[in-house]
Amino acid sequence: MDIYQIAIDGPSGSGKSTLAKGVSKRLGIMYLDTGAMYRTCGLYAIKKGVDPKDEAKVKELMDQMDLKIEFKDGEQHMIIDGEDVTGQIRTPEVSRAASNISTLPVVRSKMVDMQRKIAKEQSFVLDGRDIGSNVLPDAKYKFFLTASAEIRAERRVKELNERGDFSQNYEEVLKDIKWRDEQDSTRSNAPLVKVADAIEIDTSKITIEETLEALLAQVKE
Ligand code: C5P
Repeated sequence: MDIYQIAIDGPSGSGKSTLAKGVSKRLGIMYLDTGAMYRTCGLYAIKKGVDPKDEAKVKELMDQMDLKIEFKDGEQHMIIDGEDVTGQIRTPEVSRAASNISTLPVVRSKMVDMQRKIAKEQSFVLDGRDIGSNVLPDAKYKFFLTASAEIRAERRVKELNERGDFSQNYEEVLKDIKWRDEQDSTRSNAPLVKVADAIEIDTSKITIEETLEALLAQVKE
């Protein structure tokens, strides 16, 4: 069978990862979470005591970082310098570091190279901010998810609480989402943008299950 790619882009909390996981399962293709890659770079900067906005220092970090991605039982594991850090990349501190470090061209070019190499080996669904616009402009299917910041914040709080995490309340999560939206959409390097050939799905008023069916219907057509 032909190798093909599905790109799912959208802002934080729009449901990309849940949806991409569903697509991967239903179509029997691999899933690459590109946000996890920028999160791992952000975490690495924190661990090494480097300011994620300091371009010269981050460049040195990128040259020395040994980053590997392993897929085990359908789960993506992020390994830096031999340590599996997958369980450490979802904190608010790492989210901010990821957003800052991902503005730097030296980081993006390294991640984008890795993403393109991985996605050409077999069929993949990838989620991120710039998959359809920059990483894989020739992806067979492109989707762009939207939802209001308030709805995305509500979902994120619910998801955190379900995981037993009560460290952030709705107001804090909303503020964080708005800050990341602004930062991800206004950066000069590969900002979050809907390309003309992407199918836009507003997930505000439909459930993730309904969104998944809408997306799969497009793929099957
Ligand atoms: O998707 P997620 O929230 O895990 O991504 C973390 C951060 O990584 C985002 O806020 C964004 O700044 C950055 N990112 C990016 N390009 C991607 C995926 C994520 O710049 N393709």
